[in-house]
Amino acid sequence: MSQAAIARSLPFSEQAQLSWHEYLGSPLYKNSSRPTLEKILLVNSVKNSNEDIPDVNKQLKYDGKVKYDFLDGRLRYRGRTQEEFRFVVSDYEVFDLVVKTHLNLAHAGRQKTFDELDRSYYGITRNEVDILLKHCSTCAVKRSQTRKAPIKPIVINKLFGRVQVDLIDMSSNADGINKWICHMRDHFSKFSQAYPLERKPSENVARVV
Ligand SMILES: [Zn+2]
Repeated sequence: MSQAAIARSLPFSEQAQLSWHEYLGSPLYKNSSRPTLEKILLVNSVKNSNEDIPDVNKQLKYDGKVKYDFLDGRLRYRGRTQEEFRFVVSDYEVFDLVVKTHLNLAHAGRQKTFDELDRSYYGITRNEVDILLKHCSTCAVKRSQTRKAPIKPIVINKLFGRVQVDLIDMSSNADGINKWICHMRDHFSKFSQAYPLERKPSENVARVV
């Protein structure tokens, strides 16, 4: 799926993308496992140059040679426990990659989406996948449908066990002093009666009942 197609895809709004980028720039943002853009550029320089680059620390020079490599012009990283190299992701690729993977997996949940990303990419956390998937409107609809409590019918098996009372406002078309109609219906027998009322207060209703 192209970037433009992702931008047009409905489940993730433009607002979701904006708030993600705002989050990246906020003090709340923390991801120590993703190399910063600065580090990515430094590793790039280390890999691409045979000469010694000043201002780059020894560890980074070593990491650059051993832990990183390039494939199709893209930087890849091999973590301590990872046998395979994975593509290094920068902050600004995370949104598109998570969305694309989530949609390719037909709205898979956090764990499946994360596992799929983790196989090929380095630097995206489970927490980030979680944050982003909360913006999927398709999944939000699914969640709200499954959360709805089932409708329980009220079973009444005796006369006047449950009576429904409705007050109908007739003040615009009053019959003398009576401005309300009190309608009562017994659930069990469906017996229905209407009474005129002067006023709405509960004492008036109680008298009728
Ligand atoms: Zn979804």
